[in-house]
Amino acid sequence: VVSFFSGKSCLVTGAGGNIGLATALRLAEMGTDIALLDMNADALAKAEAAVREKGVNVQSYVCDVTSESSVNDVVSRVISDFGKIDFLFNNAGYQGAFAPVQDYPAEDFPKVLNINVTGAFHVLKAVSRHMIENGYGRIVNTASMAGVKGPPNMAAYGASKGAIIALTETAAYDLAPYNIRVNAISPGYMGPGFMWDRQVELQAKANTQYFSTNPQEVVKQMIGSVPMRRYGDINEIPGVVAFLLGDDSSYMTGVNLEISGG
Ligand code: NAD
Repeated sequence: VVSFFSGKSCLVTGAGGNIGLATALRLAEMGTDIALLDMNADALAKAEAAVREKGVNVQSYVCDVTSESSVNDVVSRVISDFGKIDFLFNNAGYQGAFAPVQDYPAEDFPKVLNINVTGAFHVLKAVSRHMIENGYGRIVNTASMAGVKGPPNMAAYGASKGAIIALTETAAYDLAPYNIRVNAISPGYMGPGFMWDRQVELQAKANTQYFSTNPQEVVKQMIGSVPMRRYGDINEIPGVVAFLLGDDSSYMTGVNLEISGG
């Protein structure tokens, strides 16, 4: 049996990170050739070695998505290396600082917006131009529950992920005439790992009425706010991305799927 995914190629951004790598590995297991993009060369090299073990074609590209010219250059290289890009998992991101809005560091705000929104836009634009030529494309952007409802102390991150949800909707309209579907995923609290530990620690340090200053208490508070009473595992994400890239979601575009335990 030849899978729908075999012979397809996917560009994954933020591929050196937890969600990007887990998704790249899952898509590779399904037979998808994988182009990995990240600005962290060491993480990228490890990701490439792991994906290569799945036996598909894999290439990695060191690139900072905030640079439009680097993104355009990498996207042309991916097209020449793989022949085409069928799928885009537009996932690179940065959490930013944790502070109430009145104290939020002004220099961090444009940094977060630049990576999470402008960077995602650069990749979306370059890849969609190729997909239009090809007459086919499936795109998944990584938003966040922080973009569905802004959490305390995360002014820039919440604003950036709210922007990704709107960008997904706009791109779904603009690209629908070209057989390109564009959807988003919104993970909630995911753990364990760097992002979880960092957000627990920094929410405690932010010292507001919403979270305890004791990180162990913050863990209880965060998990207590989730109907399913646990954080999500990174491996609960790739199947949702694969669903949105695949034909089982053929009548879905402009949608944001929440992966958040309720
Ligand atoms: P991660 O930090 O493990 O991975 C993010 C990756 O993006 C890193 O490898 C980093 O090097 C890369 N990156 C950052 N800035 C970049 C840039 N300018 N150019 C290229 N690459 C860049 O985090 P993750 O949990 O895997 O996050 C992936 C996505 O999921 C992000 O968009 C994040 O905001 C989102 N998200 C994560 C969670 C969570 O709890 N982990 C929840 C909701 C949303």
